[in-house]
Amino acid sequence: MKRTLWNLVLPGLLVLVPISAQSQDAAKVLGGLFQGFLKPSPAPANNAVDLVSLLSQSLEQIDEPKEIEIGRQLAAVLLGAKPLHPDMALQRYVNRLGRWIGLQSSRPDLPWTFAVLDDPGFNAFAAPGGYVFVTKGLIDHVADESELAGILAHEITHVVGKHHLKAIRKTAQTGLLTRALASQLSNNLAGGLSNQLLLLGRDLYSKGLDQEDELDADRSGVALAARAGFDPYGLVATLQQLRTATPDNPLFALSLSTHPAAQVRLDQLELAMGQRLDSFSGKPPVTVAQRLTRAGNR
Ligand SMILES: [Zn+2]
Repeated sequence: MKRTLWNLVLPGLLVLVPISAQSQDAAKVLGGLFQGFLKPSPAPANNAVDLVSLLSQSLEQIDEPKEIEIGRQLAAVLLGAKPLHPDMALQRYVNRLGRWIGLQSSRPDLPWTFAVLDDPGFNAFAAPGGYVFVTKGLIDHVADESELAGILAHEITHVVGKHHLKAIRKTAQTGLLTRALASQLSNNLAGGLSNQLLLLGRDLYSKGLDQEDELDADRSGVALAARAGFDPYGLVATLQQLRTATPDNPLFALSLSTHPAAQVRLDQLELAMGQRLDSFSGKPPVTVAQRLTRAGNR
């Protein structure tokens, strides 16, 4: 029983993340994986992306390449605030796990990219187009792989549902970012990240998403985790841990302030899940440390 999922997953994942990457040195691999965040994409002048103009359009008008570009820029904002964790085995593991779950979503063709930020807090972030980050503190606090899978599936659901796009559109439309900023954004795009984009990203990641979208990400995330072969109660277990955290605990403060109360999330999940997903549960738990050892990454 204990080997079913990993045996199922590993062949496909090896295609996604070449094993030769393991022999490269950490900086090189990180550089390769993430250089796209740090350098502006070559946007021809006649095709310059005016992010704020884009965001004033309807969601339907923001096509997938533009969505990915907005996400890439926001991911760079996140990476500017927190560095990547230097543990390459851990980075590869989280990227494989996340990509496997992303492939089970309704948007398997997005350039799904997962990474661990070097931060002791308990947090997960996503950006449009398929970028998902978890903090090292979160990795250290999840009891097993199904909890991490549940959190990744929650974030993947935000991306699939374009929840961040919706949130930053709202901000752009309420006038927090004015046309003046828009023109600066446009001008600065070729030269890297602008202060305005930084503001937009900070606003998004400090205020959080629409609370209904959070509850949707819980419900759909649980179903997605189950579809990917994980115990759907992983996310439930994480929420139980959050429920007992006090708001002034700096480890959990941001997670708690940007999400509905853990008890509300648990109640909503119970309503949505009922006993439908019980047949998926009861898998033997595997910790992240065990997974890294078994995968031969250490
Ligand atoms: Zn969320």
